[in-house]
Amino acid sequence: MGNTWIVDMRHYLDKETGASQSLCQLRSLNLALFFGSIVAWVTDHLPEGDWHTNVSCRRSPGRKRCLGEIFAELDRGSGHIVWHCSVCGDNGLIHGWEDTFWSRRGGARGAHACSSDTRPAMSH
Ligand SMILES: [Zn+2]
Repeated sequence: MGNTWIVDMRHYLDKETGASQSLCQLRSLNLALFFGSIVAWVTDHLPEGDWHTNVSCRRSPGRKRCLGEIFAELDRGSGHIVWHCSVCGDNGLIHGWEDTFWSRRGGARGAHACSSDTRPAMSH
């Protein structure tokens, strides 16, 4: 079985500005991009939702890259985004994503993780 990741997307943002600039310096960039892609997909497909994302699994169990695809949806009760890999069972829960630049809700612009645009994402 895979791991269960419980992630608060705000941890990937600059505390002062809420901007994405510091993201590029983080060792966890790959993870941030992975989770960010899931958030972007889910919020982009509201309100109906589309389980089958365009995000592929990032795990490489036994040094063989997992060929699974990520399925994700918004849990309307909790507001969390829950996801899992169709193959290895890696799964997780994402919260704190609403005010991040990954959210496509409220007109935030895409997941330009390494953009020099440092405007805070203030939309709600
Ligand atoms: Zn997998």
